[in-house]
Amino acid sequence: MQLPLETEALVVNTPGGDFEMTPIVINDLRPDEVLVEMKYSGVCHTDFWLQQGALTPLLTLPAIAGHEGAGVILAVGADVQDKTLAPGDPVLLSFTACGSCAECTHDSEPNFSRCAAFAPLNLSGSRRADGSSPATLASSGRPVAAQFFGHSSFARVSVVHELCVVRCPKKEDLALYAPMGCGYQTGAGTVLNVLKPGPGQTVVVFGAGSVGCAAIMAAASVPVKQLIAVDVLGKKLEVAREVGATDVLDSSQCAGGVVEEIKKLTGGRGVDFAIDTTGVSAVVEQMLDCLAYAGTAASVGVPPREDKITVGSGAFFSGKKTWLAVAEGDSHPPEFIPRMIELHKQGKFPIEKISKVYPVAELKQAISDMKDGTTIKAIIEF
Ligand SMILES: [Zn+2]
Ligand SMILES: [Zn+2]
Repeated sequence: MQLPLETEALVVNTPGGDFEMTPIVINDLRPDEVLVEMKYSGVCHTDFWLQQGALTPLLTLPAIAGHEGAGVILAVGADVQDKTLAPGDPVLLSFTACGSCAECTHDSEPNFSRCAAFAPLNLSGSRRADGSSPATLASSGRPVAAQFFGHSSFARVSVVHELCVVRCPKKEDLALYAPMGCGYQTGAGTVLNVLKPGPGQTVVVFGAGSVGCAAIMAAASVPVKQLIAVDVLGKKLEVAREVGATDVLDSSQCAGGVVEEIKKLTGGRGVDFAIDTTGVSAVVEQMLDCLAYAGTAASVGVPPREDKITVGSGAFFSGKKTWLAVAEGDSHPPEFIPRMIELHKQGKFPIEKISKVYPVAELKQAISDMKDGTTIKAIIEF
């Protein structure tokens, strides 16, 4: 593969600006990187943070978003550790990690999602070694941040860090499996890696978007005794039921409050496990309030930084509650993505029921469909 290479990517130039298809130049491939022709990318809410400029000062615009890529290898850097990777191989892309801290190199259980450098490496959009970028805008030669989560998948071709790469069994699976790298593993991992509910237990999931539905599918795969989905959009709750929720609650319609409704549904006891995917502080408080004695709550959605969350001290301590913050489902992608694929093959992770593929030219429609609940997980096709 001859570099420099001219291609196109969806570039955000200013905070709040559109994702604009823009000519870019890929200048070089380093020894620990892989050049990937992107075929599909999931659309995830963190892409909107980038678009809104909410990731500054870590990330500087212009930048290329996208962090659920799926594509085909064009070239492999000389020092890439997996010597079996070759041009033509279909791959799924996940977040990156430093590969050298205690968590990344843990003897028995390495875990990239716990990497000490997770935030700067994934949110800066630049190369780890020197903060540079492999790509520039074709029009001006100005650098464009092109390694968001190590791989910036809103591009026709991208230079990705080797630790992002997970093999995809078949090229035909690329569209369906693209969101494995963030949204699906965030939801499913929170259930299967962190909370680990048993068959006799109860679970509530706040927010039935793609992360929430992945959590619901994972809990239903156990299967747990009772699985409650909460959202404000009826369309999403219908899908939640289809993928395994035993009860659904439209929180905008709960006159007596959603906590009371959850208590009613569970015979007054509350739930053993609760997951919040919304990042709305008031919902986080509801999540803590609806726990049963010795229950555990996991925050997956991230509330605004300046927010304060109120926890009733008496209920929390005498109720022996636990509250965890979970990123990326505490997943190690090289291990967990194949595990989700296996669950899917067994019919226990029916992701085909929640995703829809849009041509890249219809990204705006895809985003609007995700926001109003018409589509749970939008995937763009290049
Ligand atoms: Zn690390
Ligand atoms: Zn994401």
